[in-house]
Amino acid sequence: MVIAVSVLDLLVVGGGITGLGVARLAAHNGLSVAVLERADLGAGASSATSHMLHGGLRYLEHGQFGLVREALRERARVARLAPELARPTRFLLPFRRGDRRPPWQIGVGLTLYDAFAGRSPADPTAGGRRLAPHSRVPAAAARALEPELDSEGLKGAAIYSDIVMDDVRLAVAVARDAADHGAAIHTYTEAIAARRLPDEAIEVTAHGPDGERRLAARAIVNASGAWGDDVRRRLVTSLDPGAPDPEPILRPSRGIHLVYPSLTRGHGLLLTARADGRVWFVIPFAAWSLVGTTEVEVASPPGAGELAPTLDEVRYLRAELAAALPGPAGTPVIAATCGIRPLLAAAGGVGEASREHRVVEDGPILTVAGGKYTTFRVMARDTLARVLARRGHGVRPILDRLAPLPRPLGDGHPVERLAEFAVDSEFARRIEDVLRRRTRLWLAPDRGRVAASTVAEVMARKLGWDDPRRRLEIERYQASLADEERLLARARG
Ligand SMILES: Cc1cc2nc3c(=O)[nH]c(=O)nc-3n(C[C@H](O)[C@H](O)[C@H](O)COP(=O)(O)OP(=O)(O)OC[C@H]3O[C@@H](n4cnc5c(N)ncnc54)[C@H](O)[C@@H]3O)c2cc1C
Repeated sequence: MVIAVSVLDLLVVGGGITGLGVARLAAHNGLSVAVLERADLGAGASSATSHMLHGGLRYLEHGQFGLVREALRERARVARLAPELARPTRFLLPFRRGDRRPPWQIGVGLTLYDAFAGRSPADPTAGGRRLAPHSRVPAAAARALEPELDSEGLKGAAIYSDIVMDDVRLAVAVARDAADHGAAIHTYTEAIAARRLPDEAIEVTAHGPDGERRLAARAIVNASGAWGDDVRRRLVTSLDPGAPDPEPILRPSRGIHLVYPSLTRGHGLLLTARADGRVWFVIPFAAWSLVGTTEVEVASPPGAGELAPTLDEVRYLRAELAAALPGPAGTPVIAATCGIRPLLAAAGGVGEASREHRVVEDGPILTVAGGKYTTFRVMARDTLARVLARRGHGVRPILDRLAPLPRPLGDGHPVERLAEFAVDSEFARRIEDVLRRRTRLWLAPDRGRVAASTVAEVMARKLGWDDPRRRLEIERYQASLADEERLLARARG
């Protein structure tokens, strides 16, 4: 089916937090805008993060003060947008004999971290004033706070604040806000090529659930994350046949997390890997703990075989956990997540790569790359400013309201209601969208297997699926679980 539409002001390719942030801001500023996402909203890196709105303490070590300061300011603002999806959390940073960084150096870093944060959102643990500043406790007090911490060589701990958020639900809330302000959201629709139309408009061809789709726009924002180089090349060379391939700007890296039942008494832990000195975390997330992450450089664009956790990564995290929290480390892993960071290309090790972002213009196609989840609003502002400048609006001020985003339904509802809401209000189109990205049913003891049938029934009713489609959807979800569970079983073995 070919659908022709009127010319939009802006077409965004990629429905991760970056693209959705751009679409939301464009819609708030009166632009007509649509988003094309080839999978589900947030299905890329934006559902596989460490769930932290943070400045990134470790970037201070690399002298990236501006980035940390900006991200800390954004930490507070994003938390204000979605207070029910962002939880102030105290993190323990244990000091051990033989550590590479002495406690005084960490103290200096945390003093800067507190200072850069400025005024922070109300923190229930600090009497509603601001996120509690850092402090330092001796070993016995650290063990009293988190008794499972390995006592070997423990000298004490620093305690500091950050915010843990629900990454994919926040992305969906941003999409809902964009749609409430007029943005059109098309999931399972892949942008393939572009061509010029009269009057400086561009037509993008996309493959969607109902076949080929064509959308026309005055500007395209390529926010396709780790696939940014590939999408840019495809759009630029189809728009101007014969144009040379643009130079790649990305150096993507894979990171995984293991999801456990809660491993701590509510604190996060910032730890240094004994194997290689990398920083890793235990992050309290609702009833679970996320353990991660890893950093493995992958190709740009990532190959199909590079999109899943490897046995080595799972074993690495399990071994580090066993050393840091020997007691609960034997607890079975519930799930593993995997995402590809769209890092900007730079010299040096991928672990030290900057989290800065860049907007690159190829005529009417703007590629936004790099950055962090926490700074998605900054990326959106920089990108929209360039779109408006191209339209001859000069330095028109951009309206960037901090009004709360639409609220999610919350978890305590019957599965049927959750599924209805996910389809009607949150753009869910597959069982996996509901189970993994609109609810936490994938972390239930049966990994959502029973709920899958109910969800399938609701979706069949709402989306007109026949019986074979309903069965296919259930099988697809079960197959994705089976792959993950096979890997985790091998790692145990
Ligand atoms: C392991 C890990 C941990 C992280 N932890 C944190 C953290 O704690 N805090 C933080 O601030 N940041 C964190 N980050 C960084 C953050 O996740 C990313 O910077 C951010 O999510 C990137 O969002 P994005 O929208 O640019 O990319 P993505 O979320 O990957 O979205 C890109 C989208 O483009 C779509 N797409 C690709 N090609 C096409 C096409 N042709 N047509 C249509 N759609 C297309 C993809 O399907 C995808 O959904 C982490 C990243 C990783 C991987």
